[in-house]
Amino acid sequence: MSPVVNGVFIGGEWRAGHDVLEVINPATEATLARVSVGDASAVSQAVGAASAAFIDWSKSTGRERGALLREVARGVSAQREHLMRLQSSNNGKPLFEAGMDVDDVVATFDYYAGIAEQLDAGQDRPVALPADDFSARLRREPCGVVGLIVPWNFPMVTTAWKLAPALAAGCCVVLKPSEVTPLAELHLARIIAEAGFPAGVFNLVCGTGLAVGAPLAADPRVAKISFTGSNAVGVQVMQRAAETTKGVSLELGGKSSLLVLADADLDLAVELACGGGFFNAGQMCSATSRVLVADSLADQFLQRLQTRAEGIRVAEPFADEVEMGALINRAQYQRVLGHIQRGIHDGARLLCGGDRPAHLAKGYFIRPTVFTDVPLDSALWNEEIFGPVLCVRRFASVDEAIALANDSDFGLVASVVSNHAETADRVANALQAGLVWINAPQVIFPQTAWGGYKQSSIGRELGPWGLAAFQEIKHVIRAH
Ligand code: NAD
Repeated sequence: MSPVVNGVFIGGEWRAGHDVLEVINPATEATLARVSVGDASAVSQAVGAASAAFIDWSKSTGRERGALLREVARGVSAQREHLMRLQSSNNGKPLFEAGMDVDDVVATFDYYAGIAEQLDAGQDRPVALPADDFSARLRREPCGVVGLIVPWNFPMVTTAWKLAPALAAGCCVVLKPSEVTPLAELHLARIIAEAGFPAGVFNLVCGTGLAVGAPLAADPRVAKISFTGSNAVGVQVMQRAAETTKGVSLELGGKSSLLVLADADLDLAVELACGGGFFNAGQMCSATSRVLVADSLADQFLQRLQTRAEGIRVAEPFADEVEMGALINRAQYQRVLGHIQRGIHDGARLLCGGDRPAHLAKGYFIRPTVFTDVPLDSALWNEEIFGPVLCVRRFASVDEAIALANDSDFGLVASVVSNHAETADRVANALQAGLVWINAPQVIFPQTAWGGYKQSSIGRELGPWGLAAFQEIKHVIRAH
């Protein structure tokens, strides 16, 4: 049996928790690690340590914080290979995808290091007033102790998008990773500990949502909760946070579209459809699981999409030339298969996939799946599947495509494939989504915001907006 790893880091010290959780390798179904996890009392101690550390940390300069963030970026970069392997083993994603995750983490810490370094010069900026007998200055101050709660699909990345700006702003942090994928975060925590942050600035409590996440969201000493996860849990977090009127940033679900316009490059459209549907085995809030294709192209597109989807090499994450890995766990695997069965029952036509690959006896694998003729009122069309399932519909006009894409409770992202720049821009402008890609894969830069419309988000991450989420605005007005 594997040894138990401490999953609680409070006030600069690793501690044992109150329970032990098994961490599974989803590609083999074998136990990967055993982690000692915390409960409400560990959360309370972590928030206490963070509150004590905040007194000095909130007075540190942006330059000091920036230097420490650069140190984290350097540490992650130096341990790239190890972190990739941890991420792939714990998450089931191919090694090349894990490499993209690690690179994203490095870029995010570097970006917020740069932002932190610029903060000092912008502090106490004079504010122009329409009165000579008063002057005013603007301060941006850290909002306090913040709780960061993240899911399992891009562990480390979702963490970095919260952690780097929170630390850059001067907040102290209690991080709760997903109980399903704590391993990369545990290693990241070691890197952060070695970077030289004062004790208590960064704290981590692994554990379940109810034992750790819920008390963190409720703790009155926590100024803000930044949460990424499902809408159902996002609502619970918001309700708990409401009891002490604390701020929330929420990154929740999606049901996004890829629009293939009549003048699209078909090969590109097929590649982008597969990327938007099958990257991370489709377990992406940003999955473009609705594919809308112009009537004139639809037959050709479907033929090529089927051939490509059937050719995708599904395998364990470390296999040669693997293109798609495993789903995260048995529950998710069964949930996605349930959605597929329900889709068939609701009258959608299964073009390919829909079951596990014959060559893989173990692991939570599902073949890339494509449906056509998906009824507009079906769960398949409207609910987030969070698995490798694409639903294709045809459209007769661009306006119909826009209306179909916007007809959703969510509004996270969208993709447009078109060789006509003006039309593509018109469509991008009309889509209710926080990020639209034109002829591009789902590239994400720390400089551009992450988050969406409607039920997908409250607030934005990344860019200066990600920093602002962890800052208070203060004006000081003086009479002369
Ligand atoms: P989840 O909501 O089940 O869990 C997310 C986190 O919340 C986990 O750490 C979990 O332990 C914790 N949690 C569970 N119950 C809690 C409670 N009562 N109080 C506080 N915390 C609690 O989500 P998941 O299954 O881990 O992740 C998948 C979901 O995340 C999908 O819906 C996906 O769309 C969403 N997601 C959104 C984004 C985005 O940026 N919009 C990114 C990634 C994932």
